[in-house]
Amino acid sequence: MTDYITKQYNCKICNKTHKIELPKDLCKGRTKFPFPYVFLHGEPKDILTILYIDKDLQIRGVEVQQGTNDFFSKEYVVKMATNLSDEVDRLREENVKLMREIDDLKDKYKKQMERLPY
Ligand SMILES: [Zn+2]
Repeated sequence: MTDYITKQYNCKICNKTHKIELPKDLCKGRTKFPFPYVFLHGEPKDILTILYIDKDLQIRGVEVQQGTNDFFSKEYVVKMATNLSDEVDRLREENVKLMREIDDLKDKYKKQMERLPY
């Protein structure tokens, strides 16, 4: 079961402080901080929210954008795409690291097999 930690952030659109539950393992496997945490909130849920979270799960920055009829501004879409490509980069790095670990294990296994007397 994942533990959650309750944090607060100020929202310029609702003009109040919101509470949010963040999973405690949110930082797991990340190497770049702060990282963007993206979600929707509001009634109806049409406020796009980006929290920038550091390695101690502290909220370092807040960006909110009201969804409109023509949805999000071009500037915002560009920013979102940048955030997503950062995330893709992170996953790619992680993948490379894992592949390397698998190769290491294969090597170790091979060497052990060679040491066997038959
Ligand atoms: Zn709000």
